Formats: sequence, structure tokens, C-alpha cells
Amino acid sequence: MINFYILKLIYEIYYLRFLISERFSKDLVNSKIANKFIKFNNKIVLKKIANKKLLKVSILLPHCIQKYNCNLKITNNIENCKMCGMCDISDFIKIKKEYKNISVKVATGGTLARLYLKEYKPNLVIAVACKRDLMSGIHDSFPMPVYGVFNEIINSPCIDTKVSIEVIRKVLREVGIEWENWNY
Ligand code: SF4
Repeated sequence: MINFYILKLIYEIYYLRFLISERFSKDLVNSKIANKFIKFNNKIVLKKIANKKLLKVSILLPHCIQKYNCNLKITNNIENCKMCGMCDISDFIKIKKEYKNISVKVATGGTLARLYLKEYKPNLVIAVACKRDLMSGIHDSFPMPVYGVFNEIINSPCIDTKVSIEVIRKVLREVGIEWENWNY
């Protein structure tokens, strides 16, 4: 495993390059840096959690995944969702029921997300967000293990975005969480 300070430096360099490219380069260059960083970060996260019991896992979702015209308040409690299937939130209710020790939180912004993580103190976070929020969230949460997943932008960046539940299930398998074996 890479030394803590060297790792911190690598995260800082990636983030700085991302910010500079966001300002001065084409979107393609900026996306390439973000993709590279998330790939690198996720590898580090898998190493960090290898052979550890993941007693508290948190899935953090952005508010834009909720259907734009749905009036239900799911930021306090995701279970307020009526599971109509119009957005991907309903899939996460199923995940929550299948995996008892996984909490699912919909965050309205970075500050609230950070506050939630500070209070909840999970062993692992699976964070879904857009390029910018994921980069800043993972950078700011260092050294907390935060596995990053990009959401899919369908039309507008902040409205009715999506995340494939199959991607999340794949991540859960990758980090070693199988619902059949969930005996904690
Ligand atoms: S699945 Fe339906 S009820 Fe649940 S948040 Fe989405 S639109 Fe609202």
C-alpha cells in the first residue's frame, strides 16, 4: 500500500489537474482526468477494505436522481418513496431491504453529505454523483474509503439523472458484499 502522505499528494495532484482542466481545457480532457482519478481511487478503496468486515456501508445518492416532479420528501428518509418506478430511487429501496447493514442516503449537497458521513462513520461509502461532485467529494473525504460511481446524465446535468442498479450490484459484489452471506 502506498504511504499515506504520498497517497494524499497523488489525490491533491489529481484534483488540481481536474480543476485546471475544468477551467482551461476541453470537456474531453477534463472527463479523462476524472475517469482516471476515479479508477485509481476505486482501486485504492478496494485495497483498503480488503479482508475487513464492512459493518456499516453507506450508499450516497445525489438528489437529481429523484424524478424532478416527484413531491415526496426523500432526503430525510428514502423510505418515503412510494416505489412508483418512475426513477431509480425505488431500486435503492430494494437494495436497502436486501442488505440490512447498508444505509442509503440522498444528499442535497456536499456539505450535508459530509456532515452525514461525519456522524454516521461508515466503513465504506459508495458515492454516486456527477464528475465534479464526485471529484470534490472524494478529495475532501480523504482518507475515508469512498468508492465512486458516475451517474448518467440523460438530458440536463441536474435533472432526472440515472444510475444503473446493476452497476451498484456489481460494486457490492466487487467490495465483497453478497446478500446471501450477510450474517453480521
Ligand atoms: S420512485 Fe416514484 S415515488 Fe419514488 S422517488 Fe421516484 S418518482 Fe418519487
